[in-house]
Amino acid sequence: MLDYLSKINLKNFSEKTCLLRVDLNIEPKEEKNAYRLEAILPTIKLLLKNKIKVVILSHRGQPQKIPNFKSQISKFTLSPFSSIISQKIKQPVVFFPHFDFKKIKKQIQNSQNQIFLLENLRFLKGEEKNDSKLSRQLAQLADFYINDAFAVSHRKNASVVAISKYLPSYAGLLLEKEIKNLDKVIKNYKHPLTIIIGGAKISDKIGVIKYLWRKADYFLLGGGPANTFFYAQGLPIGDSLAEKNLSLKNYLNSKKIILPSDCKISQRKILDIGPQTIKKFSEIIKKSKTIIWNGPMGMFEKKEYKNGTFGIWKAILANRKAQIVIGGGETLASLATLMPADYKRITTDTYQRKSASNISVNPRLFLSTGGGAMLEYLSGKKLPGIEALAL
Ligand code: ADP
Ligand code: MG
Repeated sequence: MLDYLSKINLKNFSEKTCLLRVDLNIEPKEEKNAYRLEAILPTIKLLLKNKIKVVILSHRGQPQKIPNFKSQISKFTLSPFSSIISQKIKQPVVFFPHFDFKKIKKQIQNSQNQIFLLENLRFLKGEEKNDSKLSRQLAQLADFYINDAFAVSHRKNASVVAISKYLPSYAGLLLEKEIKNLDKVIKNYKHPLTIIIGGAKISDKIGVIKYLWRKADYFLLGGGPANTFFYAQGLPIGDSLAEKNLSLKNYLNSKKIILPSDCKISQRKILDIGPQTIKKFSEIIKKSKTIIWNGPMGMFEKKEYKNGTFGIWKAILANRKAQIVIGGGETLASLATLMPADYKRITTDTYQRKSASNISVNPRLFLSTGGGAMLEYLSGKKLPGIEALAL
């Protein structure tokens, strides 16, 4: 059983210190990722309200893949987030630019401040190795641990998995929200269940098709996944993005698979779904009671090929009744760039629990902060970061 932060009596933790793992793996000032920052605030605010000292842990990027990452520190440092978070919660955030854990511990103990931020944990080799020495060092800084980093929970990292061996561990408010909303679309869902899949890579998404094959009523395919199906059917796809070595024969002739009937093509590449397809997909979306979406329908970053993705967003936002989960970095970025006002309204409603406008959004529409993690969860895989909390 998972221990949810929302269910414990925080009075017992008053004056204590908490390690809070969040996901700050974003560009600090990027508007299209702002929801991921908003998403971590409710847990922080709850802890501060209960007089708990909060030590924020995160990673940013993959510095270990760059031999000399210290020369590009600005790309990876978490330091800009101290002032960003500070503005949001209206109190100072102390940033530690080093990993001298003894010093850090002393400073936390002696400080009048309530909130602290450690530097990018992936600067340390142990983080991605799920190293127990590193997780013990981290554990010594605090009295308990909270995982609120759903988007990283599919990774066996020291601050996500090993850490929970050494401290009482809980699922934060965001992690709880993710789990409950994702469970609604794969456990207690209503038919028709429609799964929309686009984007670049089908191999990442095939797990969802496999796992939900019996449960789902429709799979609407665009982007690379549609091209991959065209190819598997023996249709000519020119130089379109596709994965040619996948075996799809179990799925090819099923009525559940709805492929585009018209496409936008340029220089031998299929780059978007066409108007007839948008209409057909929209009709199915309209009558669906449960919807899962990952992956843009086309290369929406170019305005010539944005219509498919734009059309799907319009159809989804018009369905005010269905239980809906949408995730993936570019998928959510497409809402931010194509429909900025709706993006703002929905993310404010979802993550700040207050209505940003009079026109309320479908309260059952959930934007997941996880890309890979969401796909793995929806594919029925057990995420190590969530499993570790339950041990
Ligand atoms: P997400 O980040 O939402 O999980 P992906 O990373 O799988 O989505 O894919 C997003 C990318 O796929 C976008 O940058 C988009 O331009 C690209 N894309 C979508 N359709 C096509 C297409 N037909 N051809 C080439 N690229 C495409
Ligand atoms: Mg992506």
